[in-house]
Amino acid sequence: MVSTGSNTAEKPVGPPFWLLAELTYRCPLQCPYCSNPLDFAQHKQELDTEGWLKVLREARELGAAQLGFSGGEPLVRQDLEILVKEARELGYYTNLITSGIGLTADRVAGLKEAGMDHIQVSFQASDETVNNMLAGSRKAFQQKLAMAREIKRQGYPMVLNFVTHRHNIDQVDRIIELCLELEADYVELATCQYYGWAHENVSALLPTREQLAEAEAVTQRWRERLAADNHPMKLIFVVPDYYEERPKACMNGWGSLFLTVTPDGTALPCHSARMLPIQFPRVQEQSVRSIWYDSFGFNRFRGFDWMPEPCSSCDEKTKDFGGCRCQAYMMTGDMTQADPICSKSPHHLEHVRKRDAAAYSTQTELVYRNERTSRTFFRTN
Ligand code: SF4
Ligand code: SF4
Repeated sequence: MVSTGSNTAEKPVGPPFWLLAELTYRCPLQCPYCSNPLDFAQHKQELDTEGWLKVLREARELGAAQLGFSGGEPLVRQDLEILVKEARELGYYTNLITSGIGLTADRVAGLKEAGMDHIQVSFQASDETVNNMLAGSRKAFQQKLAMAREIKRQGYPMVLNFVTHRHNIDQVDRIIELCLELEADYVELATCQYYGWAHENVSALLPTREQLAEAEAVTQRWRERLAADNHPMKLIFVVPDYYEERPKACMNGWGSLFLTVTPDGTALPCHSARMLPIQFPRVQEQSVRSIWYDSFGFNRFRGFDWMPEPCSSCDEKTKDFGGCRCQAYMMTGDMTQADPICSKSPHHLEHVRKRDAAAYSTQTELVYRNERTSRTFFRTN
């Protein structure tokens, strides 16, 4: 029987479906909404090739079927192709999540030969100036265009990902036109989630409710137009919860489907959870199976027994699991609280006040994600 640790969830714990392998925190770009931890420069150690091969084998044996290679920029790892080859042999469906920086035609071919199934390229904007301003690189946009074309030339299915925020949300029309031009198979318009670097920059990034509604309406018009033309490109609009009255069912429940392994081998139930005051297990010290089923970190918020009020007696708790633990921690300082996005949370009004102040803030200065800035977070905090 599968151990559920100290919790008494009704459902037995199933295996992870998704493995996210964050191969490195190194990245040539400096996006001010990056989801890497603020203190990433403190975590320089990286698993070596053997270490990652062990993770891939153990997670696959446990049942993981989807594998995302991400970072940082995963292309800075010269052993990426070795890992992809092993993943293919193990039977994973593999996805590369890249900025496109460091990609070349030869590398696209090498990844194909190794068996990579799918590539996702992130853009910062449809406009070169805005893109490069947000990426902190003068060459980023042209490189991304060239590599998106190369990926399609070599016959890959391709996702183009745009994190949307105040600087690009009014350009959704142009973004979709660019994606059509680049022959994307899927377009992900991912509304910025305010964790890590994005949380630091919320007053310079958060769009207004009206801007969001308009972007969603534009996307819907395009969906209808593409369907009428029988065009295969699919548009995915990732809705934020900042303007909602109920939180998202974060990660579909803590430790239920997702397993993230960070560059230094720390295993997390979601890629943001490193911020929480929990000692998470490391793949160097425990098998992936024991991490998933038996570790304190993965069992901490499984089930419902951990919940205080108002969640514990709430009839919606099976829908949203009390929301996001990281959001609760960032907004209240207590990771066990109801996610303050929820209107039943005693902290909801405070969230609304701060959200509206951020959405109408005139702040333009951005904190860029780079080593120098990251060091200030562990020197001073
Ligand atoms: S969000 Fe930007 S800075 Fe962060 S890893 Fe991705 S490309 Fe690099
Ligand atoms: S009180 Fe808790 S369980 Fe109920 S809707 Fe709000 S966050 Fe979800």
